[in-house]
Amino acid sequence: ALFPVGPTTPLSYAPGSPERAHTADALARIRSTGYDVPNIIGGEEVRTGREVPVVTPHDHATQLGTVHWAGAAETQRAIDAALATASWWGRLPWEDRVAPFLRAADLLEHGSWRHHLNAATMLELSKTTYQADIDAACETLDFIRANVKNMLDLYGVQPGSRPGEWNTAEYRPLEGFVFAVTPFNFTCMNNLAFGPAVLGNTVVWKPAESASLVAHLSLQLLREAGLPDGVVNVVYGDGAEIGEVALGHRDLAAVHFTGSTGTFQHIWRTVGQNVASYRNYPRLVGETGGKDFILAHPSADLDTLAAACIRGAYEFQGQKCSAASRLYVPRSLWPELRERLVAMTESVVVGDPTLPETYVGAVINARQHAKHAAALKQAREERLVVVGGSTDDSTGWFVDPTILEVDDPFSPFITEELFAPVLTAYVYEDADWDRTLRLVDESTPYGLTGAVFATDEAAVRQADDALRYTAGNFYVNDKPTGSVVGAQPFGGARASGTNDKAGTVWNLIRFASPRSVKRNH
Ligand code: GLU
Repeated sequence: ALFPVGPTTPLSYAPGSPERAHTADALARIRSTGYDVPNIIGGEEVRTGREVPVVTPHDHATQLGTVHWAGAAETQRAIDAALATASWWGRLPWEDRVAPFLRAADLLEHGSWRHHLNAATMLELSKTTYQADIDAACETLDFIRANVKNMLDLYGVQPGSRPGEWNTAEYRPLEGFVFAVTPFNFTCMNNLAFGPAVLGNTVVWKPAESASLVAHLSLQLLREAGLPDGVVNVVYGDGAEIGEVALGHRDLAAVHFTGSTGTFQHIWRTVGQNVASYRNYPRLVGETGGKDFILAHPSADLDTLAAACIRGAYEFQGQKCSAASRLYVPRSLWPELRERLVAMTESVVVGDPTLPETYVGAVINARQHAKHAAALKQAREERLVVVGGSTDDSTGWFVDPTILEVDDPFSPFITEELFAPVLTAYVYEDADWDRTLRLVDESTPYGLTGAVFATDEAAVRQADDALRYTAGNFYVNDKPTGSVVGAQPFGGARASGTNDKAGTVWNLIRFASPRSVKRNH
């Protein structure tokens, strides 16, 4: 590496620590500001008057402000701004392009921005201080620095030359604009808009409806660090309305997407229908759903396994594509593991994530909450609940951390993604290890993450082989979540996405259009 690249470590946030005091100040500031979030198009603040409230999921009566929703006209303007900026941004020397990004990373790591963005993440996404710091601070700046390093690594990949000729590869940005669509669950995923821009692309960015404030502040940080107007243009609003204009445009060069499998498939179909009208074939890069597994072998260590189940399933309310949501456990281990999981689940504190004792906050919005409430009602009716199983939306959108147990290995609780703190256990007979490997592989359409727990090395090797395509991120004796930029490149195949691994050179190359140049001398 030419310069240090993460992983950045989170601050301690111990009660009484200075960072906890800074966080408290930042929370108070965010709560009292009353945000009026505009679209940012070509550097201009665009207010439409179609205002939608920005709410706090764990206290939904509290509004942090409002966000102005864009429509077709603003989306068209954002595309025009991106295309106008593309004419010079992608031709700048790389040193000039990376400067604002590296400066933003420094501001985030060492200045008050860290507490500010963390506090917004805690309030708008309902994350605990520790989770917010890992996401909005550590992973964000690891992504930014990795983008720069990846770009330089990519530039170094050059062809050979024979006598009398000189061959080079020029990594042009794509011709057109990149349409970035980001999810609500990670502030650091705003990197989908920034990564391609480092390489010289210009971007139209549509953040998730429930993550407007963190998107706004992330872009504000970049702008304060000197990102020129028009490089990243953000429009808030309805995905279908904005998507129709962006996906229908002749100069769509790429879609950089993280979100649901259904939405990505819709994007893919739309691009397919429009294929003859584009100037270039758009690159489609997407990370979508998951139904991620924990597979315990009879030789598994119970302490490690139990902690992985709790952390893998409940952290950030299970709202991770990577969250552990199906557990395969041998009959011989289940009574002991079940007892531990029940005790640990009952000790989990659910509530306001700004309080230090809280482990699980609220799920993101009313729509998600209603979906989880319906699923858990069905689980209660079918008598599947081992522990938890309730929901409450009186003050915030809370879902109890829950363990279910099913007899049917193809139950919807095993096959369908919920995006909630719910782990479904299926108990297999110890002698059925081989059949269980097949079940783990075949019972869902996804291929994102998974973990095997075993102290028996032969069992690990067998699982590693049988589950070769079941997970793009495969963990041995660790929870299937919490990938670190540069250490566990993240992404999956099958119905989980195009497996282009966020924050890597493999991802960045999708946003480059290499040109071969041969010069004779
Ligand atoms: N990279 C995260 C993890 O390993 C998950 C990202 C996501 O849910 O989109 O837990």
